[in-house]
Amino acid sequence: LFVLGVETSCDDTAAAVVCRRADGSCQILSNEVWAQHDDHAAFGGVVPEIAARSHVERLDSTIERAIAVAGIPFDRLSAVAATAGPGLVGGVMVGLTTAKAIALAHNLPLVPLNHLEGHALSARLTEPAAFPYLLLLISGGHTQLIHVRGVGDYVRLGTTIDDAAGESFDKTAKLLGLGAPGGPMVEAAATGGRANRFDLPRPLAQRAGCDFSFSGLKTAVREAATSIEQPTGQDVADIAASFQFAAARHLAQRTEKAMEMISPPEGDCRLVVAGGVAANCSVKKMLQDLCAANSWQLMVPPPKYCTDNGAMIAWAGAERIAAGMTPTLDESLSLAPRARWPLAPHKDGGKLGSG
Ligand code: ATP
Ligand code: FE
Repeated sequence: LFVLGVETSCDDTAAAVVCRRADGSCQILSNEVWAQHDDHAAFGGVVPEIAARSHVERLDSTIERAIAVAGIPFDRLSAVAATAGPGLVGGVMVGLTTAKAIALAHNLPLVPLNHLEGHALSARLTEPAAFPYLLLLISGGHTQLIHVRGVGDYVRLGTTIDDAAGESFDKTAKLLGLGAPGGPMVEAAATGGRANRFDLPRPLAQRAGCDFSFSGLKTAVREAATSIEQPTGQDVADIAASFQFAAARHLAQRTEKAMEMISPPEGDCRLVVAGGVAANCSVKKMLQDLCAANSWQLMVPPPKYCTDNGAMIAWAGAERIAAGMTPTLDESLSLAPRARWPLAPHKDGGKLGSG
């Protein structure tokens, strides 16, 4: 099963071809990503209009490269998969419309996908992560704990009540004048910093359940930064390290609650981490310790599959097809891009959040 994946939901123009073998394993044949950081650098954040235009300019050549590197021409593909939301709707429209055109021109099925499902299944690109597993999804726009019971079978256990984890890294980077992309900049700045210099809060420590909150940390970081008149490089490193430690500790503490909530039988104690923040070594270390202490298995995709990429979209498409969930071409052609699109219902039912 060869699937072309197209991803344009934020500021990465991405396309990839993956193969799903008969035994369910994955081979990534190409994974082309054109990051737009430079286009947005002058504006201090992603500008939706610029992102959409950049996708228009770059998507065709990115897809051509993905096809060429994979060595699988369009007529050998089994399907096309594309992100249909959630995200910046202008960008999603570019990718989805292009995928529709390819599907029509080559008479292929089109699988429109929830971007979060791409992240949710990304660990299975490189590891045989068996269902069910607990998913900690930590990206630029989302921070959620989800019980992944199978393809298309997701139950949300917790979500952020304010900022997303990645967003808090991005805001901290901005506050410290570190530039973009925020997460990697904070991680680099934190090297050599003292994580115990600033005693930052433990958000929601007294609250039951496994929701997250990052806005208190953001305020504490601002206070720490403004308390120093002329910060030296060491001061910046110390603040970055203290923030990174507090953010990682919060993620681990809430994940521990979710582990208790689902308390799976011994053979099913698996934690999968996905989304851009999963690339952070300090976060990974904290989760490693948590899993070791509780005898859970931890799976984290390599960094390039944590941040946005086409391979995870192609793979989620392949998983849906293999599970017999291929929509008809009429169904997928009539699907409109969605700015908001929750992946999973909340475990108590009904209470759907923004994503
Ligand atoms: P979403 O998937 O919720 O729509 P997104 O697609 O923008 O959001 P991703 O591409 O999964 O998010 O991840 C990007 C986020 O990950 C950014 O907020 C970025 O700062 C963060 N990030 C990337 N690398 C690191 C790192 N090494 N440490 C911490 N954060 C990181
Ligand atoms: Fe993403």
